[in-house]
Amino acid sequence: MIFPRKCTYCCKGIDEGYVVCEGDAYYCSDECFKNDDPATWDGYQAEIAAGDYDPDNNHWCYHTDWEIDTEEQIYNEAGDPATYAEVIEWNQEQQQEDK
Ligand SMILES: [Zn+2]
Repeated sequence: MIFPRKCTYCCKGIDEGYVVCEGDAYYCSDECFKNDDPATWDGYQAEIAAGDYDPDNNHWCYHTDWEIDTEEQIYNEAGDPATYAEVIEWNQEQQQEDK
């Protein structure tokens, strides 16, 4: 498996999670976000609680998912840069799904 992002805190490869400040940090889960940056997490939660949070309005922090873009850095499950072999394997899987 290959992933388009890695978690800033636990470092595993992810295809969905939180984006903070346009990519200063990515988190796989609430736990990683809270543990790595409790002040930002609290601010984010406070905005949601106050009803100020609009996820469609390019917010400084949001939850999303990502597609693999082979032009960008790709990671494996351990969060290391994906090897050529891993990317080839992923490519073959994609082609099989298309059939
Ligand atoms: Zn994580």
